[in-house]
Amino acid sequence: MTGRWITEVANGYGQTIEVKTCLCSRQSRFQKIEVYETVKLGRLLMLDGIIQLTDSDEFVYHEMLTNLPFYAHTGIPRRALVIGGGDGGALRELARHPELEKIDICEIDGEVIAAAKEFLPQTACGYDDPRVAVHVADGSEFVREHAGEYDIVIVDSTDPGGPGAPLFGEEFYANLKRALRPGGVIATQSESPFLLPEVVRQLNRAAKKNFRFVAYAGFAVPTYPTGMIGACVASDWRDVTTPDRQLSPELAKKLRYYTSQVHAASFAMPGFVGRLLD
Ligand code: SAM
Repeated sequence: MTGRWITEVANGYGQTIEVKTCLCSRQSRFQKIEVYETVKLGRLLMLDGIIQLTDSDEFVYHEMLTNLPFYAHTGIPRRALVIGGGDGGALRELARHPELEKIDICEIDGEVIAAAKEFLPQTACGYDDPRVAVHVADGSEFVREHAGEYDIVIVDSTDPGGPGAPLFGEEFYANLKRALRPGGVIATQSESPFLLPEVVRQLNRAAKKNFRFVAYAGFAVPTYPTGMIGACVASDWRDVTTPDRQLSPELAKKLRYYTSQVHAASFAMPGFVGRLLD
């Protein structure tokens, strides 16, 4: 043992990670922001004691949350919105697509953005792209005020408690739908069916009330509780479970998790999840 151990505890479940140093510990208006240098996993971001990312596996989550809607979109997405996502990882993945002309982010907590830029260069590099425009505001209000503007909307939120609570309700999904242009697709952080089955079901219901095509994709992120997390992907225009276009060979060389095959495979769910979603 070379360092000390920090423990994330939530929903009757805990996981403990060995860290070398605490790089940042601040209380913002919304939440406690902590960044650690870990022994094995690179840098780690916690908000209110909940792990948001580690350098070692954030690529899985960010590649999937952005590329599932990007490639499920029928046509060429030009305008993208990220709600939450203050660490910049979703922006970094979107910025790989030259087709996008505009990438907006609406993050409620400017101090998360500042901490990411200072301590998480691997993810915060997403802010460097000139197409990115930052809005510090509540995402639930932002989508209400931006009807018909986006081809893809990504909700990269914290869990249902705290400032993320409005991002888990039916009204928010109705406003997400209104924020889309024709052909539009959304993808929302949708928790683990092992740990929070009721949240997975609730989000699926809220999406189904508003969208014709709704599906849950699961993927492996070792440092999220249970090692699995999912995205609810929804659209009114086409089945989202298969990609509309293949990855370019250049991008395929850069991505580490998302492939066209993984896109389709991530929607194949075991029986208990299928029943949860029905
Ligand atoms: N991938 C992460 C996870 O699921 O653990 C989420 C990462 S990202 C850091 C989550 C961000 O959502 C936080 O920075 C938080 O401030 C932001 N957020 C929470 N509620 C929000 C709201 N109502 N509007 C906009 N951003 C919000």
